[in-house]
Amino acid sequence: MPPEQSDLLSLCKRRGFIWPSYEIYGGVAGMFDYGPLGCVLKNNIVEMWRSIYKNREGFVEIDSETVNPVPVFKASGHVDEFSDLITYCEECKEPFRADHLAKGLHSNPDILSADELERLFEKNDVRCPECGGKLGKVEEFNLMFKTTIGPGSSRAGFLRPETAQGIFVNFLNLYRYNREKLPLGVIQTGRGYRNEIAPRQGMIRMREFNMMEVELFVDPDDKGWERFPDVENEIMTLIPNDGNEITVTVGDAVGKGIIANKVLAYFVYTTQQLLTALGLDLKKLRFRQHLDDEMAHYAADCWDAEALLSYGWTEITGIADRGCWDLSRHAEFSGVDMTHFRRFDEPKEIEMDVVKAKHKALGPKFKGKAKEIAAAIEAKAPKDIRNGTITVTAGGETAELGEEFFEVVRIKEKVSGERVIPHVIEPSHGLDRIFYSILEHAYTYDEKEDYVTLRLRPAVAPIKVGVFPLMDKDGLDVLAASIYKELQSGGIPSYYDTSGAIGRRYARMDEIGTPWCITVDYGSVEEGKDKGTVTIRDRDTREQRRVDSKDIVKVINAMLSE
Ligand code: AMP
Repeated sequence: MPPEQSDLLSLCKRRGFIWPSYEIYGGVAGMFDYGPLGCVLKNNIVEMWRSIYKNREGFVEIDSETVNPVPVFKASGHVDEFSDLITYCEECKEPFRADHLAKGLHSNPDILSADELERLFEKNDVRCPECGGKLGKVEEFNLMFKTTIGPGSSRAGFLRPETAQGIFVNFLNLYRYNREKLPLGVIQTGRGYRNEIAPRQGMIRMREFNMMEVELFVDPDDKGWERFPDVENEIMTLIPNDGNEITVTVGDAVGKGIIANKVLAYFVYTTQQLLTALGLDLKKLRFRQHLDDEMAHYAADCWDAEALLSYGWTEITGIADRGCWDLSRHAEFSGVDMTHFRRFDEPKEIEMDVVKAKHKALGPKFKGKAKEIAAAIEAKAPKDIRNGTITVTAGGETAELGEEFFEVVRIKEKVSGERVIPHVIEPSHGLDRIFYSILEHAYTYDEKEDYVTLRLRPAVAPIKVGVFPLMDKDGLDVLAASIYKELQSGGIPSYYDTSGAIGRRYARMDEIGTPWCITVDYGSVEEGKDKGTVTIRDRDTREQRRVDSKDIVKVINAMLSE
């Protein structure tokens, strides 16, 4: 572990940002708890994300279940596709991600099949990194946590590996809520669960992690975006799938065909806005397009926001054009229509084929039920005819009817619109990875002074102001305590500290990223020109200025909104 990484992790633990879970029982790999400061920082990240998507873009937020029945993930493809390749040591039984063992033996082990990996291991005599034992077969390991819903193993379920499916299965509710209009933007934050084989990179690969997902449903023929002109001249650093890094405007990225469409480009740039507003260093941020063999089978285009961390370039957000995959699959598996009614500007007369019942043949055969059967026939479409027969259900009975009972006729009809399956644009953020990236990019260590400063942006800093009486007596404490109370009740998270030399108190606040410290000194309470004033110290410049104590809340709020 690079020294800065271990120093940061020990700071996080010592100061209550994150703690390894279940430490008193020896810990569990890939699991972390957020401490008091971490919780506030995490919530501040979520609030910034909400303010962009809910306030600026007008998206809506939902909160769906984390335990899902099996059909949800059959439809989404996770039951069949969401796996990594695993191999166990035949001697010590330790499990390994097979592609990780192939690093250095192949340019992209990620794309190799189980057979190819087995052959590669045999050819290169790859053995268990723990005990040198022989490796077993390479096989698929599904990353979803299994559970049951209620007693009995027949009611199987899974913990969700992403929050997105909760939005897709609620599409019809959301669509009606939006008065059947597109575009429709929905956000959801919450836990995702992935039973990672070897979670060895701190908060980068966790087994239970937090996501902030955005699903934007658009008309497939309309991938423009009203506010695109606001960002088209902004600059981004992109690595398209030819591998050559370029710096381009958002407009050129679309114009030159680098990003598939305007709406996707707008949200790639929105991701850059969010991440830099949260405090990520723009110089350590890039957007990389998925290679063809890396792209999920349903994605039309996909870009990863990558942050440069001590682990190397690391994906922290994925922004994908998922086409109509999600809704088509849920429509197919649930049998529920998930289309949008696209209204024409003017009604159009179109020719179409419809199924008509042959009433003369139905009457004598089905007597009193004939009317109901005729209606069931006419509710069918020509695509429902299989080998010259059509299957209908009427009065609780199902019947297979031959061509003597129906015919396909071409009719002209005035229609006011057509049904289309919406496409989905998805910015999917890994909250814990963003949290960790913010900390790494904010962490600064001054070797000469042996001094750590966390240069968190004020908007995300868990504590905004430290309040110190220089001495815990002589009325300094009374004024300082009243300032602290006023800040807290004004909604500005603050920390009151009376212990130790003032330099130590500043250092404690600098180390957790508190942007400002207020000190009440003797000048604040004694007769003279400074009476009633206090000092405000800036974390990054260490400059101090005197401010009237009555104006503190106003001054801090003004600096917070800068
Ligand atoms: P994905 O659905 O795999 O594209 O994941 C979406 C985002 O979730 C990624 O960009 C990561 O930031 C984050 N993520 C995925 N897997 C994990 C994990 N095991 N631990 C922490 N974050 C993760």
